[in-house]
Amino acid sequence: MSSALPSYEQAASLVATYAAQLSRLRPPAERVELAQANGRVLASPLCADRDQPPFSRSTRDGFACRAQEASTHRQLTIAGASRAGESPSGPLPRAAAWEIMTGAPVPAGADTVMMIEHVETDGAPDSSRVRLLPPRKVKPGENIVAQGVQARQGDALLPAGTAIHFAQIALAAACGYSALDVFVRPRVAILATGDELVPVECAPAPGQIRNSNAPMLAAMVSAAGAEPWVLPTAADNAQSLDAALAQAADADLLLVSGGVSAGKFDLVEPALARAGARFHFTGVRIQPGKPLVFGELPVRTVNPLQKEHGTKCFFGLPGNPVSSAVTFLLFAAPILAALSGRLDLGPHFALAQLAKGTDQHGKPGLTRFLPAHCDFAASAAEIPELELVPWQGSGDLAALARSNCFLVVPEEAHRLEVGAIVRILLP
Ligand code: AMP
Ligand code: MG
Repeated sequence: MSSALPSYEQAASLVATYAAQLSRLRPPAERVELAQANGRVLASPLCADRDQPPFSRSTRDGFACRAQEASTHRQLTIAGASRAGESPSGPLPRAAAWEIMTGAPVPAGADTVMMIEHVETDGAPDSSRVRLLPPRKVKPGENIVAQGVQARQGDALLPAGTAIHFAQIALAAACGYSALDVFVRPRVAILATGDELVPVECAPAPGQIRNSNAPMLAAMVSAAGAEPWVLPTAADNAQSLDAALAQAADADLLLVSGGVSAGKFDLVEPALARAGARFHFTGVRIQPGKPLVFGELPVRTVNPLQKEHGTKCFFGLPGNPVSSAVTFLLFAAPILAALSGRLDLGPHFALAQLAKGTDQHGKPGLTRFLPAHCDFAASAAEIPELELVPWQGSGDLAALARSNCFLVVPEEAHRLEVGAIVRILLP
């Protein structure tokens, strides 16, 4: 049965192809204040409004001068001084030096800056002469960042599709953007299903559990820069599911949690089929998350993004929380990134070294994603060490909450030894 299912690689490549198609369609744009732009996606290139740096600047406190003159160690007359913030000055006379602070414009005629630590002045409080201490020499260009070497006025510094975080905000500020054009965030309907679920505010009766997937998925959607839209929980019956799917019609992406396994009350697939779904796969050879469903629903609304795409993607995520989290990261996140207009679609993997867990045997025919903790804080020179988080299966939320990544155990892996370099899936 399961050999008919796609492998992880096959399913991932299908989703990646699909995401690449979605990426060709640009979402609508809106303008937001720079302070509101964190986590959003650039809708137009970010351009330099002037040369960067705008003038040749000193990277040190010291004396601007001519390298050739300074390297003879002769006394140079101090002809003037520039502080950061002062307009470029000069020109520098012959056989002279110019006192300069870090970040200040280098006067015309100077081609290097002697560091304050490397010179001697003539000793007077208002010394008028300075020389480079032998045997040190200076080269032209030393301690200077020339005007325009980072960017020329009008250069595109970041393309549309770049995710905006602290560094992009700093660059935008440096280039004079008080507001940015960003893509409108896709709206993601989150539909938890299950007769056993109660909201977090309620005390569960015997046999009931709290709905943790809806807030978890909402957090994952927000972290991906999209807008979560949590629908009321649907019961395990056709009527409730049909009504909930109709309600979700306006979303840009639909995430259903639960009800996609082979159980008697797993009624999500038939409900999606009644809504006109085309299924790309109904199961993947992974663990956790094997019952994952991916497909498209016909568009029945005037939502502009959906209309452009012609269809709306959905995922049926298995209800077990670890399964929901893993399948979101592996498959839903790239589609969401594409709908958000991002260039980087993910998922993101890295390498780590296995510290413990030699008992990790591969499971024939399944790629596994096991909750793990990677010590990213270890020395920068070392490969981060990975420990598996002990867990009691895909319902173990505490294990999920103690993990910061997932160990990837390939289908063909027989045994992962201590010290092995392994792949990890990043959240
Ligand atoms: P299902 O995929 O519906 O068969 O659910 C598999 C397991 O996940 C069951 O033990 C469910 O109780 C649990 N589960 C399903 N949905 C949720 C949810 N929204 N929050 C927490 N656990 C859930
Ligand atoms: Mg269920």
